Amino acid sequence: ASAAEEKDLVIVGGGVAGYVAAIKAGQEGMKVTCIEKRGTLGGTCLNVGCIPSKSLLNNSHLYHQILHDSKHRGIEVGDVKLNLKQLMKAKEQSVSGLTKGVEFLFKKNGVEYIKGAGAFQDEHTIKVQLNDGGETSVRGKNILIATGSEATPFPGLEIDEQRVITSTGAIALEQVPKKLVVIGGGIIGLEMASVWSRLGSQVTVVEFLDQIGGPGMDLEIAKSAQKILKKQGINFKTGTKVLSGDKSGELVKLEVDSAKGGKAETLEADVVLVAIGRRPYTGGLGLENIGLELDERGRVIIDSEYRTKIPHIRCVGDVTFGPMLAHKAEEEAVAVVEYIKKGYGHVNYGCIPSVMYTFPEVAWVGQSEQDLKKAGIKYRVGTFPFSANSRAKTNLDTDGMVKMIADPETDRLLGVHIIGPNAGEMIAEGTLALEYGASSEDIARTCHAHPTLAEAFKEAAMATYAKAIHF
Ligand code: FAD
Ligand code: NAD
Repeated sequence: ASAAEEKDLVIVGGGVAGYVAAIKAGQEGMKVTCIEKRGTLGGTCLNVGCIPSKSLLNNSHLYHQILHDSKHRGIEVGDVKLNLKQLMKAKEQSVSGLTKGVEFLFKKNGVEYIKGAGAFQDEHTIKVQLNDGGETSVRGKNILIATGSEATPFPGLEIDEQRVITSTGAIALEQVPKKLVVIGGGIIGLEMASVWSRLGSQVTVVEFLDQIGGPGMDLEIAKSAQKILKKQGINFKTGTKVLSGDKSGELVKLEVDSAKGGKAETLEADVVLVAIGRRPYTGGLGLENIGLELDERGRVIIDSEYRTKIPHIRCVGDVTFGPMLAHKAEEEAVAVVEYIKKGYGHVNYGCIPSVMYTFPEVAWVGQSEQDLKKAGIKYRVGTFPFSANSRAKTNLDTDGMVKMIADPETDRLLGVHIIGPNAGEMIAEGTLALEYGASSEDIARTCHAHPTLAEAFKEAAMATYAKAIHF
């Protein structure tokens, strides 16, 4: 890149937010540069987040199912052995295939890709420390901050990614730990607890709140998830706070206490996973050079068109407001390029689905029962259990239910909550319905193929304004 040429858009960060914006800008005919320091594109999601974790979740589930859930299906297997090295290799293949795919899409859409760490020199210039040594600078009419997030550390317990790990260590362990303690029963905690518990680890999840799954999950669904995961062998300590940690001995020790005060206890583990949330990442970005301030949680402050207080510098993804989800970053990335290019864009923040990829999966969109209660909004609930769904019965996977929440007067859909096999795929229908302002009756009067799990979705809708047929 030459310092003289000014790009239409310079993007710092090649994660989902940054790379999607880069491709979209290329498609819109803009001259665009994307700067990424990791060495590969795709950010947290493709390299150490969504993608590797889902590879491990899928294959550990298959392993666990072959071991514990095949005989009664009429499948008798001989020696079943875990080859952890191969399991990790399969994960690496998925990751490298996808990150290279993004690099290909950059070429296809004329995006300039610079491998290095970018920092603001002034309001229009990013200085880049190149990964291969040396430096360069790029000027942009517009600049997009898309630097993402990092794991929040636990005070006093230094991360070494071997014995005290974040999710990055948890997707790359070389041995199955005998005892794993997870601090935080949010999505990362529960997905990783599932992987290692299935592979043979004794797992305990310590959660500060009385509910697992993080704050967005419907309470009734969270309770059900906890019961099912417990049956699979994961221990839970909810309403329990980790006070301090000590890794000086052979085992890592954690002092825990009842969150409401009560008797303290010491937990010991070979490995401790810190999964207490993620925080915006702006280290080394040189925001001080342009006078950009962060909010109290370290997020870049933006307006509804993703502009910082310097209007040609915008920001999307994990580093700013909203849920830290890849598909949220992707929606924003498309919208921000549209704002720059055309002056309008669109993201419906009331309609962003969440999925926890445990088995069964948990997925939801819209408002939970506790949200509505808190806001004093009247609602009606319809539920349908998978134990009454024919496809779930043929699959011998009948744990879980669909729960639908609608306005009692207009019947307009307010929220959908699913725990069950394939919930993550099924929630797309709920999201579309919510986005289009459907009523529960609209869904119930839509023909659904038989026998499918999606019929549980239709019947839960029926149960919201009338009665389900099969329950
Ligand atoms: P990031 O993906 O963090 O990308 C930011 C990039 O910017 C990074 O690659 C970083 O190296 C680069 N960067 C930072 N500073 C600079 C700089 N100064 N110069 C150059 N480059 C820089 N979300 C889901 O929706 N579904 C999931 O299943 C899911 N699973 C997850 C599992 C795990 C274990 C984790 C940790 C996260 C998961 N997430 C999931 C969240 C998802 O990964 C994030 O929401 C998403 O990656 C956010 O994208 P982003 O582009 O904003 O940030
Ligand atoms: P989280 O905020 O979802 O959960 C953290 C949990 O830790 C909370 O339930 C909190 O109460 C608990 N906690 C905090 N301090 C504690 C303490 N001292 N002792 C005990 N418990 C404590 O965060 P996460 O699970 O780390 O995930 C980070 C982000 O990554 C989230 O925004 C999540 O949406 C995203 N993510 C998404 C997916 C997915 O979509 N499938 C997967 C992984 C990560």
